Amino acid sequence: MFLKRIDVVGFKSFADKTGIDFSPGITAVVGPNGSGKSNIADAIRWVLGEQSAKNLRGSKMEDVIFAGSETRRPINFCEVTLTLDNTDRHLPVVFDEVTVTRRVYRSGESEYFINRQPCRLRDITELFMDSGMGRESYSIIGQGRIEEMLSTRPEDRRGPFEDAAGIVKFKFRKREAERK
Ligand code: ATP
Ligand code: MG
Repeated sequence: MFLKRIDVVGFKSFADKTGIDFSPGITAVVGPNGSGKSNIADAIRWVLGEQSAKNLRGSKMEDVIFAGSETRRPINFCEVTLTLDNTDRHLPVVFDEVTVTRRVYRSGESEYFINRQPCRLRDITELFMDSGMGRESYSIIGQGRIEEMLSTRPEDRRGPFEDAAGIVKFKFRKREAERK
């Protein structure tokens, strides 16, 4: 599985519809300070279901929507789509290509889609659980995250290992079952 493409519209500094293609191997994004490099990583985390505005370097969820600039008016919604190559069936679905979309309006609620079909956040969470790409996983290491890994409690540090071992899904389902 690899991330083939990301399409962004209205997300943070990306007022215009922007598409970025990735190839297998290493991609480096370079640019001046404040040009939007970290916003790309934020967009990936957001579409995977990040619910914490703070983790997205904002104070409220609305902060992910383009807030306007000297020359442009604010936008009313934002949308991010990830396109993943799944020819190796790393994600447990029968499709060679999987798209995941999240959209949010200033008025609130997020909408989620898998291959353009409306779905719940929970479906996205489950799709990526144990894939190594979930929003809580080690696939996105933010600035400061390494220190956090070294200093937090052993129980917290176990998370990435459980994700890598592929048991997070079972723990999640067990918790859900116990709640009912
Ligand atoms: P650095 O090299 O300093 O890490 P960077 O390239 O990672 O910089 P980002 O943090 O991705 O930069 O981008 C920050 C820019 O995004 C700032 O200019 C900020 O004004 C802009 N930005 C963030 N949220 C919004 C928003 N909701 N609307 C408009 N612009 C935004
Ligand atoms: Mg940055």
